[in-house]
Amino acid sequence: MSVTHPIIIIGAGHAGVTAAARLKELNWSDGIIMVDQQRNDPYERPPLSKDLLKTDSDGRAQLLRKTGWFEERGIQLLAGCAVTGIDRDAHVVQLSDGQVQPYHRLIIATGATARALPVPGADLPGVQMLKTHEDAVQLREALQQQKRIVVIGAGYIGMEVAAAATAAGCRTTVIEFQGRIMSRVTSEPISHFFENLHTQAGTEFRFSTGASEIQGDGRVERVLTNTGEIHEADVVVVGIGVIPNQDLAEQAGLLCNDGIIVDAEARTSDPHIYAIGDVSRSICQFENVDRRLECIQNATHQAAQAARSIMGADPAEPEIAWFWTVQHDKRLQTAGVRHPDDELVLRGDPAAGKFSVLYLREGRLAAIDTVGRLADFRQGKKLISARHMIDPITAADPDRPLSDSIRDLVTA
Ligand SMILES: Cc1cc2nc3c(=O)[nH]c(=O)nc-3n(C[C@H](O)[C@H](O)[C@H](O)COP(=O)(O)OP(=O)(O)OC[C@H]3O[C@@H](n4cnc5c(N)ncnc54)[C@H](O)[C@@H]3O)c2cc1C
Repeated sequence: MSVTHPIIIIGAGHAGVTAAARLKELNWSDGIIMVDQQRNDPYERPPLSKDLLKTDSDGRAQLLRKTGWFEERGIQLLAGCAVTGIDRDAHVVQLSDGQVQPYHRLIIATGATARALPVPGADLPGVQMLKTHEDAVQLREALQQQKRIVVIGAGYIGMEVAAAATAAGCRTTVIEFQGRIMSRVTSEPISHFFENLHTQAGTEFRFSTGASEIQGDGRVERVLTNTGEIHEADVVVVGIGVIPNQDLAEQAGLLCNDGIIVDAEARTSDPHIYAIGDVSRSICQFENVDRRLECIQNATHQAAQAARSIMGADPAEPEIAWFWTVQHDKRLQTAGVRHPDDELVLRGDPAAGKFSVLYLREGRLAAIDTVGRLADFRQGKKLISARHMIDPITAADPDRPLSDSIRDLVTA
């Protein structure tokens, strides 16, 4: 294939960089231009709330590709440059440096922005999010100085921060609207297991509580809650979710609804434009529901979908979504997406720190959470894709392999 214009990728995060790599593997021989508003070499985000926060870490970002990787492959990386507009009729993008760049195909991989806390004082110095390497370095410094930390939001990132903070010897309080940690993404047995770990390490929780105001004289000093409490704080970390960076797409008239809507090949409502990673919303091929996933697996999978579609290769095989988090050295691995109405099957003993929770929907395994049982995670992924009917009694027996619980081989 030989065309005049390059493929432009907006965003050099996990999704964008993987898309460039897949295109090259599929022998795309014309230009690829990646545009990212960040000046740094593209880096991994998961370590920012894990290893990088450890007080003995070297604080360096883990690069997504080694130095020189882009040049060696003839990929032009415009770092420190934003795309400010898309002209779909002319097939060009406008760049913040004033250039107008034509594209053959456009891939939007702009990720998501951490949601701001909508209360007075949320803009005081010392109130921060955790999205970039700079955010992580700043937070690590506070942990090294054993500052008082208040975390607002007990999701994955908030809880990883709380774990790092208590491990560093910081007084740590978590304020959460819901009644348990990670309630949006997991079930009660998993929440309670991790909550115990955090409590034993010294983290204090305030559940069913919202931050109502942040106060301080030129810098954060305390957080006020809607229950009338006051929590002294040197640093406040806000982890209350993200908002997809879909403004460019919306302005260009692409279909969006809390994410840019894409099909199973990551194509937007304009067949020349793809959207991948945290910014996109797509139909899950296993459940026929649409959702926006914020995980590395989804970012890299959609990158492959887009690259294969552009190159006219066979579509990428559907993949089960999976995710992990590490808190106090315990790794939670999740495959599939649970629904609050799923039937729960507990397998193994939480007190022993090795157990899984299975989520059955209409008798089939829809999702699994595992702690310390890697074999369950691996087999669970296979069982979810195969859509086997599962016998819950056999599945609950931790001494038998999960695959023994297949009730029959009926597939939908
Ligand atoms: C602290 C943290 C910990 C995480 N831990 C995990 C984990 O353990 N496991 C897991 O699976 N996932 C984890 N995630 C989520 C995971 O990192 C994201 O799902 C993934 O980064 C999404 O990749 P992306 O390429 O879609 O977006 P991003 O990695 O956010 O990249 C988007 C890029 O687009 C650029 N950009 C945006 N707008 C423009 C524009 N107009 N012009 C130019 N450039 C633009 C941004 O600068 C950015 O570099 C974590 C995320 C964070 C923040």
